[in-house]
Amino acid sequence: MSIKELGEFGLIARIKGQFPVPEGVTGIGDDCAVLPQHDGLRTLVSTDMLVEGTHFLLGDISPYRLGWKSAAVNISDIAAMGGKPVATFLSLALPPAGNVDSEWMDEFIRGYRDVSDRYGVALLGGDTTSSQVGLCINVTVLGEAAPDRIKTRDSARVGDLVCVTGTLGDSGAGLRIILDRAASGNAADAHTSSDRVLETLVARHYEPVPCVRQGLLLGACQGVHAMMDISDGIASDLRHIMKASGVGAEIDVNALPLSSELKAYCECNRLDTSDFALASGEDYQLLFTLDPAVHADASLRPDTAYTVIGRITAGDSIVWKNASRDFSGFRHF
Ligand code: ADP
Ligand code: MG
Repeated sequence: MSIKELGEFGLIARIKGQFPVPEGVTGIGDDCAVLPQHDGLRTLVSTDMLVEGTHFLLGDISPYRLGWKSAAVNISDIAAMGGKPVATFLSLALPPAGNVDSEWMDEFIRGYRDVSDRYGVALLGGDTTSSQVGLCINVTVLGEAAPDRIKTRDSARVGDLVCVTGTLGDSGAGLRIILDRAASGNAADAHTSSDRVLETLVARHYEPVPCVRQGLLLGACQGVHAMMDISDGIASDLRHIMKASGVGAEIDVNALPLSSELKAYCECNRLDTSDFALASGEDYQLLFTLDPAVHADASLRPDTAYTVIGRITAGDSIVWKNASRDFSGFRHF
């Protein structure tokens, strides 16, 4: 069978099956691995790779933004578990020629450092080598959390509310603007929205802000059950929670939180906001399930803003309420 036929998640399952997980450890299958520390806390670990041509085009993204994004998407995986990010390791495979010179590298590191500084995250190591194909960036992030504050994908319960932080779809719209500009050779903007709207959406794609503060506050709330970050879009990511927890879900498309910029952009260009909000990725907001009794009680509710978009049901499928088309067959890969 080809790797394509096997699929990303089929391949991961195949690898996972061959490595028994040590006692007291959470391994493959969530946003982070969880390991015990001697002081009773848990260490959270995650790693992500960004590959030229697959995740970014060197000519399109500034080095500052690529540095920012490389650190931000990893820090987001710690936030997704309710943890505090502590340190990263940065490995680079650099192409021999081309745009990547010392000035480029300085700008990359400046972006990487700005988002790391914002959350007090140290860079503690990495590896540097050459690449014959293109730039490859691998980041490993370490975080920590008290065991009773860690939120995993497998803890959703029937009757829970499905909730998200922030707004959905902005990053996907930003990517569309970037790709359209690249296709037209940056000659003219095919889009009719204001520059402010376009640049806001592009920035949401290139400089995602990891929800660290929100993740810690949600982690501290016992009524928050399952949680993950939104990297592939909720139509895909919610399935991870459903599968891990053995539940279904019902989502009200009219309840999805949308930014004024996404609404303006979609209105101008006659696009459907729910295509972006449900099926495009890289928003890096948090998706979580919440005990409805906790949501109803202002003194117990999580101390951060969120939007209720649906609820967890028995079964194993998603029902989309008020959808303009059927999103149930959506697959990211
Ligand atoms: P995320 O989107 O949160 O970064 P992924 O979907 O990339 O998570 O990965 C899902 C799970 O599979 C994670 O636990 C990750 O560590 C694990 N994983 C992904 N690729 C591999 C691999 N090649 N070997 C072992 N584990 C992997
Ligand atoms: Mg994740």
